[in-house]
Amino acid sequence: MNGQTRPGILLMLRRLLLSLLLLAGLFAAVLAYGLLVYNKPPVDPDWALAGGEPVPDGAVTVRFSGTATLLFSDGETHWMTDGWFSRPGVPRLLLGKIAPDVAAIRRALEANGVSQLDAVLPLHSHYDHAMDAPEVARATGALLLGSESTANIGRGWGLPEEQLRVLVDRQPVRLGKFVITPIESRHFEFPDPEMRRRALGEPLIDAPLVPPVSVFDYRLGKAYVLHVTHPKGSWLIVGSAGYVEGALQGLSADVVFLGVGGLGSQTPAYRETFWRETVASVAPSRIIPIHFDGLTAPLSGPFRGEAKAVGWASGGLEETLAFLQGKAVAYPQLSFHTLPRFARVVLFR
Ligand SMILES: [Zn+2]
Repeated sequence: MNGQTRPGILLMLRRLLLSLLLLAGLFAAVLAYGLLVYNKPPVDPDWALAGGEPVPDGAVTVRFSGTATLLFSDGETHWMTDGWFSRPGVPRLLLGKIAPDVAAIRRALEANGVSQLDAVLPLHSHYDHAMDAPEVARATGALLLGSESTANIGRGWGLPEEQLRVLVDRQPVRLGKFVITPIESRHFEFPDPEMRRRALGEPLIDAPLVPPVSVFDYRLGKAYVLHVTHPKGSWLIVGSAGYVEGALQGLSADVVFLGVGGLGSQTPAYRETFWRETVASVAPSRIIPIHFDGLTAPLSGPFRGEAKAVGWASGGLEETLAFLQGKAVAYPQLSFHTLPRFARVVLFR
């Protein structure tokens, strides 16, 4: 015995328990803060368009749901990139399995004012682009356009073969007056080697993918840049902040939808090359940043940035905003706009 009395030991145990409880509480508070509180999105509030203006006959309109989900229409033909609405939370992404949230998809299609679509085209096969597209196709009668990996996500959801089309690099697809040319490109290069290996290594989904599955089962497939022309105008959609040098040479576009997800976590040299190989290549008059909102943030209300915890892990949100603002200053003839959520915006009159 060390001579301590029984009440002395009890007091010590009580203090220990109290400290442990305090620590657990602190940990829970930090976790909740990290997962439930979001950063501001890395775009300038001054760039925000309100939308909802009257739409002249034949105008081309766009509606934005967040990330890289865009709905284009000229009143006759309606098509969508990605069609991603499910947004599973961080605990499920890290520890569980994910599957399309059919109710969320139905609500989002309603919010976009769409019941019939000609096509849905995931820009690559990661979950935040392609996971919900087969259900969007099923619900709207759309063709599911994409790589063989995207087709396998469709097959896993039971979409019939006649609703699947595999894209061929640089072979234009005609939808009404829209001509969509898919250009094989590269995904954003995650600076972290482990993340890069898990998200970009072994890129193919080579058999029907039946959810629920792990987030990493949604392999990359192929990453496309879309060049779109319509009698009213032309645009480029860059779904992920990657590039292939020289790939867009000879193309022009009035508008660039620029995916900036993760861009701030890369080096300044990478950002400059990305800009040169996308925006500078096609010389637009207007830039519309996309894929800047947090993947786990809700699909309603104002756009939010990444959850605090995601920001701690990846960093670089300030750099994304500073980079875009720097370009806005350097190119005063170029308009920068961000789209409202769901509201219709006239892209070309
Ligand atoms: Zn991706």
